[in-house]
Amino acid sequence: MEQQKYNIGIVGAGIAGLSAALALLKAGHQVSVFEKAAELGEVGAGLQLSGNATRVLSSLGVLDEVQRAGFLPQGLKMLHWKTGRTIARFSQNSNVNVGDNPYIHIHRVDLHAILLAAVIEISPDCIFTDAEVVSVKNNEKTASIQFNNKAEKSFDWIVGADGIHSVVRPTAISITDASRFTGNVAWRGLIPISSLKERPEPLTHLVMGPGGHVVFYYVNGGDTLNYVAVVERSDWEKESWTEKGSVTEMLRDFDGWTVDVRRLLEKSNPAQSYRWALHDRDPLSTWSDGRCVILGDAAHPMLPFLAQGAAMGIEDAQALVYCLDTFSASDVGEEFFKLRGERTARVQLTARKNMKVFHERSSLVRFVRDKVLSVASVIYPEFMNKKLRWLYDYRLRD
Ligand SMILES: Cc1cc2nc3c(=O)[nH]c(=O)nc-3n(C[C@H](O)[C@H](O)[C@H](O)COP(=O)(O)OP(=O)(O)OC[C@H]3O[C@@H](n4cnc5c(N)ncnc54)[C@H](O)[C@@H]3O)c2cc1C
Repeated sequence: MEQQKYNIGIVGAGIAGLSAALALLKAGHQVSVFEKAAELGEVGAGLQLSGNATRVLSSLGVLDEVQRAGFLPQGLKMLHWKTGRTIARFSQNSNVNVGDNPYIHIHRVDLHAILLAAVIEISPDCIFTDAEVVSVKNNEKTASIQFNNKAEKSFDWIVGADGIHSVVRPTAISITDASRFTGNVAWRGLIPISSLKERPEPLTHLVMGPGGHVVFYYVNGGDTLNYVAVVERSDWEKESWTEKGSVTEMLRDFDGWTVDVRRLLEKSNPAQSYRWALHDRDPLSTWSDGRCVILGDAAHPMLPFLAQGAAMGIEDAQALVYCLDTFSASDVGEEFFKLRGERTARVQLTARKNMKVFHERSSLVRFVRDKVLSVASVIYPEFMNKKLRWLYDYRLRD
């Protein structure tokens, strides 16, 4: 039986929306993407893409380019927050030559540009900017999008990839879940390598301190260092990719931390320094209604303590195509959630748990945590990879 090909409207041209557009176009569906921003692009800084994400990017035919634009870390190094001494070193990318998918660090802008180019190559006119969606509604066997200029368009399916503040989620699927501010603010930014006296090792660096942590790694093929510096503070609650951050204020948040970290942070390019208040939401029990489906952050926003938000959006894209091509229209929504709901909920909750582990305030518990990590890294450098096999080795179908 010939598979049914649909006319699909996607709301949002972020990483999840473009991944979905690319996967759907490759499978022969007709796609239109509506983005409220006047210009396409990403802001912010780096992204870690673990093997589960790069496996899907490979199947979408863009992995070589992602690898060229990104950086392959050679390991994970954990440092003491106050003394800067190395606590543990674990392997990363040690098995790429024998078939593991690579763990890649990439600037968001680069990943976005690669996905966009691949989409446009297949369907040059499928993306519409300055197209703000105000609501989406189900009709019988179709769904329609209402735009802020009062225009309306109808599709066989509508995919809400419109991020944390999704309008598709409440208007089409009646989900009005509340977010909770976690009391954490993430400072994010880029440091030109040329501004540093010493080049950090080609590793992912993680520094866990009381009430905060810092991660830094290379992007732009190794020309730039990306950092995310998270600190617990309750005086500012705005979730936004574009809110500028002050380097001086960030440094105040890391008073008393090792000079190795502070020296890096003070080199942050002020024009590329942002801050983001971290909110948390519980996993949902459905992502669809009729002909409307949500994915990416619109469906499962998560804390960045496992570096998986974009990865889950990329996985969703592949799963959605599988469901549309495999199940009858009346079952697509349920089957999509069956495939994805449990996994993304586990990732959301693990990220939440990591917040406690990373920011432990008891010096005794921190001491024990660091000792265990230190011993584990000596005995078994693959420990972290092994612990996260359930996450990194995921395949949609075995
Ligand atoms: C500090 C930090 C670090 C992170 N690090 C990582 C990491 O290392 N690895 C990882 O995998 N993930 C990471 N994440 C998570 C990741 O960035 C997000 O999960 C991912 O970007 C979400 O993509 P998305 O396309 O679902 O949503 P978004 O990126 O929010 O895109 C939504 C798009 O929809 C558009 N839009 C919104 N509303 C409308 C509307 N009404 N009409 C039309 N268009 C609309 C927006 O303009 C936007 O372009 C991190 C997050 C944070 C905060």
